[in-house]
Amino acid sequence: MDYEAFFTGELDSLRQEGRYRIFAELERRRGAFPRATHHIEGDLRDVTVWCSNDYLGMGQHPKVLGAMHETLDRCGAGAGGTRNISGTTHQHAQLEAELADLHGKEAALLFTSGYVSNWAALSTLAARLPDCVVLSDAGNHASMIEGIRHSRAECQVFAHNDWRDLDRRLTAIGPDRAKLVAFESVYSMDGDIAPIAEILDVCEAHGAMSYIDEVHAVGLYGPRGGGVAEREGLMDRITVIEGTLGKAYGVMGGYIAGSNAVCDFVRSFASGFIFTTALPPALAAGATASIRHLKDSNAEREAHRDRVATVRARLKAAGIPMLDNPSHIIPVMVGDPRHCKQISDWLLEHHAIYVQPINYPTVPRGTERLRITPSPVHSDGDIDRLVEALSECWSRCALSRVPAAA
Ligand SMILES: *Cc1c(COP(=O)(O)O)cnc(C)c1O
Repeated sequence: MDYEAFFTGELDSLRQEGRYRIFAELERRRGAFPRATHHIEGDLRDVTVWCSNDYLGMGQHPKVLGAMHETLDRCGAGAGGTRNISGTTHQHAQLEAELADLHGKEAALLFTSGYVSNWAALSTLAARLPDCVVLSDAGNHASMIEGIRHSRAECQVFAHNDWRDLDRRLTAIGPDRAKLVAFESVYSMDGDIAPIAEILDVCEAHGAMSYIDEVHAVGLYGPRGGGVAEREGLMDRITVIEGTLGKAYGVMGGYIAGSNAVCDFVRSFASGFIFTTALPPALAAGATASIRHLKDSNAEREAHRDRVATVRARLKAAGIPMLDNPSHIIPVMVGDPRHCKQISDWLLEHHAIYVQPINYPTVPRGTERLRITPSPVHSDGDIDRLVEALSECWSRCALSRVPAAA
């Protein structure tokens, strides 16, 4: 077989469909976010980033950097081993205690990323619970889907956010099997929020375990940043809460929080937890500082909400179509992969604005979009420039606008 020809052929068909991924090479600058340096064809250009998941700018917060510098200088670079073999440091233990407290749970377990936490926890739980059936929301993230698939347990996909469909399916499955219901709070591409209370009612009525991914909510929602479940007073009813330290907390890592027994079970059986080098202590210390800060401070969350509302209002006034949702994610709908890419390229080239196009398979075909994520560090001037530039793109591509409400 001609392996090289196979690889290039597959890549060519991605290009033809307009969904070949091109990464923008950025250099982030501490203290300057959302400004960054774009490295392109040997040139350096200043850009404003509008698609970062460093939602609150915690990736440059002095407390986070201070904790990381201090720990790096005191403890060195790496953890030196897997958690089992010499890699469990004091910083990991502190971070896990901080996470358990954040979610009002007995325990938490740290992983190298949110992806790994979903993959490892769901695959371990679903594979080892006897005769388990997994109920997975149709909008779930790839990390959850892959974890469930890897478990080889039966999986039923329920209609997105549809607790009635979930209820029907659980009724049909009957009381005798182990049941694991996996869903998210804030869905990252549409920015919609799950009816968590209704889903938990259904889980409880059928004796099902609940597993929620709060990756796009931790740090951002709830009085201490515990997520949407904290805001709605529901954390104690959820069996497992999963989150990331790489988005609103601005660092890296993933975790689950739950009872001592469930965390200890995953710790003891999950290959993706056991057989990999632990996160560097400096990273764990940075994440702990970030969580602690956002437990006490609402200023970042308030400024974030204000910026999101401002961007939304300005886009609405310009007639730029957006998906309506109750979260901080602003999906600007283009509906065509080529236009989506062209607009993104134009924004970067002519306006020094960076918004990555989101195409299939990340979102369904025909719903291609620009996913805009305002942060507290975007100024009014940044917003003006974004809206004017998008408006120009809409005219250039002759895309339809939403008429102003009468
Ligand atoms: C980003 C993401 C993850 C993975 O988290 P990382 O820490 O980036 O690996 C998990 N779930 C959802 C919904 C995500 O968007």
